[in-house]
Amino acid sequence: MKNYVSLKEIQEDISVGNISCHELVEGYLDNISKYSDLNAFIEVYKSEALERAIKIDEKIKNQTAGKLAGLIVGIKDNICYKNHHSTAASKMLTNFKSTYSATVVDRLIEEDAIIIGRLNCDEFAMGSSNENSIYGPTKNPINKLYVPGGSSGASAAAVKANLCQLALGTDTGGSIRQPAAFCGVIGLKPTYGLVSRHGLIAFASSFDQIGPLAKSTEDISRVMNVISGLDEHDSTCIGERMNLEVSDNKTKKTFAVFKDVLSFSGLHKSIKSKFKKTIKNLEEKGHTIKYIDLPLLENLVPTYYILTTAEASSNLSRYDGIKYGHQTKASGIDELISTSRTEGFGKEVQRRILLGTYVLSAGYYDAYYTKAQKIRKLIQEQLKSILSENNYILIPTTPNLPFKIGQKNINPTQLYYEDIFTVIANLSGHPAVSFPIGEVENGFFASGQLIGDFFSESDLLGCAKTIINN
Ligand code: GLN
Repeated sequence: MKNYVSLKEIQEDISVGNISCHELVEGYLDNISKYSDLNAFIEVYKSEALERAIKIDEKIKNQTAGKLAGLIVGIKDNICYKNHHSTAASKMLTNFKSTYSATVVDRLIEEDAIIIGRLNCDEFAMGSSNENSIYGPTKNPINKLYVPGGSSGASAAAVKANLCQLALGTDTGGSIRQPAAFCGVIGLKPTYGLVSRHGLIAFASSFDQIGPLAKSTEDISRVMNVISGLDEHDSTCIGERMNLEVSDNKTKKTFAVFKDVLSFSGLHKSIKSKFKKTIKNLEEKGHTIKYIDLPLLENLVPTYYILTTAEASSNLSRYDGIKYGHQTKASGIDELISTSRTEGFGKEVQRRILLGTYVLSAGYYDAYYTKAQKIRKLIQEQLKSILSENNYILIPTTPNLPFKIGQKNINPTQLYYEDIFTVIANLSGHPAVSFPIGEVENGFFASGQLIGDFFSESDLLGCAKTIINN
């Protein structure tokens, strides 16, 4: 089977009889077993996917197939799929089967995409390296000694290794974009509210968004056209369904670049040099670059971790070992709850619940939680004003290249600082797309991010495409 860059190529091959959906599924299944050492898929829906492929091949013949016929998708293990296990890579949910599908899953299936399996991730989407998982770490297909990023590390690895054509991930503070960068693929964190969170196992509800990872901006756009838009099951869902093609936009744009990011001492030299090259190319094409200040740079990571741990501590209180989730034997109710939670949650999740409970506690609420909310507001205002004067913000996706498995998970705060360039879009709610801007050492890639105005995804993807093609 070919390594298809886009669904368009797949559908063209199907239409001339070069391949069928059934053969496609077989091809991906072969790849999944060939590269099983990557530990990307933790469950493969083999017979189900093959059966659906036969039905969709029939529909294609009858010209009744949906828009995504031929698209083989992997979903992150924190997105619910009816009658299937969804565990958020946690012992807490090992036996949990969802009784309903996430809206995004329903919408993909309606348009005849095939879900081929569920993908590894960091437990409850907390992490930047896919090492916090009960299933063990996922490996980076570019070099298996390295992490694929996180928390949607396996989503990025699966796309890169051609185990599926597209994967859904989730992004609370960078978990789609950072793994996309580490594996050299494209990932979109949509505007907060554009994609329904119904059926997503919550981490930090005012930050979480589901989004696609793929090899082309076209595939991302086509899937966004299907999964986005209002949903009666999610009251924070406010966007209209996207309905645009990615077009090569020839108009001249203005890009805001943060001086503080360029002078950031932790920015890897290869990423910096590719980033500067991207800026130079844009200038040569007649676009304008405006260098601006970001005095709040140092505050981004602390603000993000205060607010998301607060929300996580509240969201994860439902896992008490009684209603559902891992349950242990105990002599009384208090012991039942505390032992079930101690056994069910991994170290990083426990750390965040503790931190979140602390910042929300009566004595510290104002000092931490209220203050962080105020900073969030300032960040939102600053981005709003930047994006009213510029078309986009251009920023590297990560300060560093992929690191070795086991290298950084000993020091959680060091890992938290890997998120310095991604959390800003979740704090503000703006859409952000990450894409490779050049190959660097060891076959890895430097990646850049474009952040745009609310609901400007189509334009953002169009601009990303232009940069990628240059
Ligand atoms: N790395 C970040 C964290 O650990 C982002 C997680 C995410 O986006 N789900 O919180």
